[in-house]
Amino acid sequence: MISLHTHTIFSDGELLPSELARRCEVNGYKYLAITDHADSSNIEEIVTGVSKAVEDFNRTSKLKVLAGVEITHVDPSIIGELTRKARQAGAKIVVVHGETIVEPVKKGTNLAAIEAGVDILAHPGFITKKEVELAKKKGVYLEITTRKGHSLTNGHVAKLCLECNAPMVLNTDAHTPSDLLRRDFALSVACGAGLTKAQAERLLENSQKLAESKLKA
Ligand SMILES: [Zn+2]
Ligand SMILES: [Zn+2]
Repeated sequence: MISLHTHTIFSDGELLPSELARRCEVNGYKYLAITDHADSSNIEEIVTGVSKAVEDFNRTSKLKVLAGVEITHVDPSIIGELTRKARQAGAKIVVVHGETIVEPVKKGTNLAAIEAGVDILAHPGFITKKEVELAKKKGVYLEITTRKGHSLTNGHVAKLCLECNAPMVLNTDAHTPSDLLRRDFALSVACGAGLTKAQAERLLENSQKLAESKLKA
């Protein structure tokens, strides 16, 4: 299993980075990205802090962890700047908290994230076809999520991505140990969004490709 979108006590998750990583290791995860909620107040601290634990963990583990952030609820006009800041601080994966229908995320967030060339646009709600086409062009992965609430528009996201042949990833957005889902269940959620089993498997293959390219960089 792979999840490139998870949370720790660096934002609203329950576990320390080391415990989250250890629990994923025991559950047979191959790659994990720790992407805590970030805005201008904490983006550098998160990347610096999580990177230290990740470096220690990766030295002795088969599971490889990537330090990242999830830029969350900021004005779309500063998403590009925060993306650069995160990368400068050493973030391997930059996620943006997209326009989920269950929170008042500012309109324009999806587009700003795609234009900034982030790695993953999470739970993009009713993303438009034009935005999906641009995401494909910019190499931004769109997320199918197992997170309750955010997952309500998975079907819409999957349908447009299939139409446009835009790449998707499958993420848990885990905040607690019980969110660390097994591969089979995560694939079932993707199939519930209208994907075939083979198409759902492709999402995890994309996650693996992204993780491997970022670890090499
Ligand atoms: Zn989010
Ligand atoms: Zn999240």
